[in-house]
Amino acid sequence: QAKQQGQRLLRFFSPEMTQRARERLHLEAELRRAITHDELFLVYQPQVNLTTSKLVGMEALVRWRHPERGLIPPNAFIPLAEESGLVVSLGDWVLRAACRQLRAWLDAGLTPPRTAINISAAQLSEDQFVGRIAEQLRLYVLSPQSIEVELTETCVMVDSERSFQSLAELHALGVHLSIDDFGTGYSSLAYLQQIAVNKLKIDLSFVRDVTTNPNNAAIVRAIIALGKSLDLEIIAEGVESPEQADHLRSLGCDSIQGYLISRPLPADEMAAWLRQWPASSEQTGQA
Ligand code: C2E
Ligand code: MG
Ligand code: MG
Ligand code: MG
Repeated sequence: QAKQQGQRLLRFFSPEMTQRARERLHLEAELRRAITHDELFLVYQPQVNLTTSKLVGMEALVRWRHPERGLIPPNAFIPLAEESGLVVSLGDWVLRAACRQLRAWLDAGLTPPRTAINISAAQLSEDQFVGRIAEQLRLYVLSPQSIEVELTETCVMVDSERSFQSLAELHALGVHLSIDDFGTGYSSLAYLQQIAVNKLKIDLSFVRDVTTNPNNAAIVRAIIALGKSLDLEIIAEGVESPEQADHLRSLGCDSIQGYLISRPLPADEMAAWLRQWPASSEQTGQA
């Protein structure tokens, strides 16, 4: 039976696929190196309240500066990191880098807002997930309110006791939780009652033509209504035009993130931003 299976596999792997598999293995080895050799860095994208224009948060997004291939966007390596399990150590790197940066900004007299980091399903189901976060917060003397964890619906739906437990512990610790790409996952909404969510991020695919496509406007309206009734903060991602911002404001959306406000910025440019933009009254900061 094993032999039969082997033959089926051999037929399955065409020469082009073997080539692709080899490239993947190569990229995986390179990504492993990238994590340990400082080839990764974070960029930060501000989040601004739609009525007060105050800075209410920022999202940390990972980048890979490959020595030969140049800048590689996350969509080109996060899926691979997820499939190979490397995303756990990558995620750990991101967590440390974000906390270290927050501490550096605080030490420089800046008041960074709550900073969101993206978390993959494999990280959430790790035993040490919350422990690692608590450890970094202690190490850099940061309050749990200074960071936020972004999970996708699909990630939350991985229906394991471990994940639910971790989310409860995270909440107890005081770390905020937001649901990323909201509206795009195949999920029931029941989890919104089961876990302590603070914020919904409306996916950019709905935001893109919110002013012209009535269906997308209806979806955005429904997400905002749902969020309000559950007392959640609503942020729209991928906002590029003033028209989109106006429309979102009229629908009752709380805040926005997108090129209209700023592209994701390297740390030094974000620091300049922090110096000039009015901060939120709700400051987080050191423990
Ligand atoms: P995401 O978390 O939904 O992040 C939003 C993406 O939209 C970012 O792409 C951001 O650069 C982009 N964006 C922001 N404003 C605009 C806009 O106005 N218009 C358009 N068209 N796009 C905008 P990015 O940085 O390429 O990241 C892509 C995805 O990769 C992220 O989607 C997230 O799922 C994943 N990712 C990024 N960093 C990390 C990380 O540290 N860990 C994990 N696990 N995933 C990450
Ligand atoms: Mg995100
Ligand atoms: Mg998103
Ligand atoms: Mg996304």
